[in-house]
Amino acid sequence: MKFRDLGAQYQALKPEIDAAISDVIESTGFILGKHVTELENALAAYAGRKHCIAVGNGTDALHLALDALGVGAGDAVFAPDFTYVASAVCANLVGATPVMVDIDLDTFNMSPEALEKAILKVKEEGKLTPKVVVPVDLFGLPADFDKILAIAKKYDMYVLEDAAQGFGGEINGKMACSFGDISATSFFPAKPLGCYGDGGAIFTDDDKIDEYLRSVRVLGRSTVDKYDNVRVGTNSRLDAIQAAILMPKFNAFADYEKDNVNKAAVWYTNRLKGKVVTPTVPEGYVSSWAQYTILLKDSAERDRVQAALKEKDIPTMIYYPRGMHQQGVFAGMNLKDEDFPNTVNAVGRCLALPMHPYLTEDVVNEIADAIIAAL
Ligand SMILES: *Cc1c(COP(=O)(O)O)cnc(C)c1O
Repeated sequence: MKFRDLGAQYQALKPEIDAAISDVIESTGFILGKHVTELENALAAYAGRKHCIAVGNGTDALHLALDALGVGAGDAVFAPDFTYVASAVCANLVGATPVMVDIDLDTFNMSPEALEKAILKVKEEGKLTPKVVVPVDLFGLPADFDKILAIAKKYDMYVLEDAAQGFGGEINGKMACSFGDISATSFFPAKPLGCYGDGGAIFTDDDKIDEYLRSVRVLGRSTVDKYDNVRVGTNSRLDAIQAAILMPKFNAFADYEKDNVNKAAVWYTNRLKGKVVTPTVPEGYVSSWAQYTILLKDSAERDRVQAALKEKDIPTMIYYPRGMHQQGVFAGMNLKDEDFPNTVNAVGRCLALPMHPYLTEDVVNEIADAIIAAL
């Protein structure tokens, strides 16, 4: 059994994916060009954003988004404590300071109440300027944007949506990658929309930011004279081969894969509800199920269930085994467990189950049976 069955997806889409790869090679258009533009247009339309700028990976997408917002030394960047490290470390990459915010245990996403407290604390200390909030659409579920956007407005801050795991999520029909001033996603193979290597994209409605990003992904090239480099930039472009691979994958995602993962989530929840803590999807929200994560009673029970599943060849993962405040890279910040009670709770009890669009109900039942037997 596979945790995320990329092989099954390839078998389903093989003719289109193979043709897409050949098309790029035969056209010899490897850098930017028509495949990248076609993908950018399709993704912008799907997300309901004016612009999509494809870049080298999700970390670059976050980094360049902060750069485009003018974030730098002396600025505080608020990120959830329970996430992939890139959500917080992007602040350091522009010389700013990350501020970790505890999560809500029911959604695993940034707690708006903890966010406001953290902003007030930074203001009171007076050393940093609260500049931007980076809510993460963790495990495919959009963050609580109603509340977070209101808080950002109140304190005159930007919002950068980290939708690396969130592509395809929705809140009342509004799509992930459309929340806040700017959004970043990743096409790392295991994400809801993944390519066959590294890839990422940035979304915005702002024409100036769009122009800036199209320049800095090519070493700060001028948009009128390609041999004039007018600002400091990097080299971060989505490969044309990856863009071509993403096109049939995006079509499958929009046509049926997103529906399939939502069906699989219902199968799991129907079997596991009341036996373990199953994931919450708030009213009006749609998840794209980057992960289906349950909570066990405590870490002893979690480890016991994980070992029992492994015994039956059922792969599971602990996303995440530590919070940002427990990461070695941030050890110098002297952050304390007691300030992140929900993260500490989640890292001890969470277990991510196999989840992908090609799961069958029989397999979900087999996994649920094994969990119930282990309990
Ligand atoms: C994967 C991920 C990233 C980074 O994306 P890469 O493409 O791996 O650089 C950032 N934030 C979150 C929440 C992620 O899951």
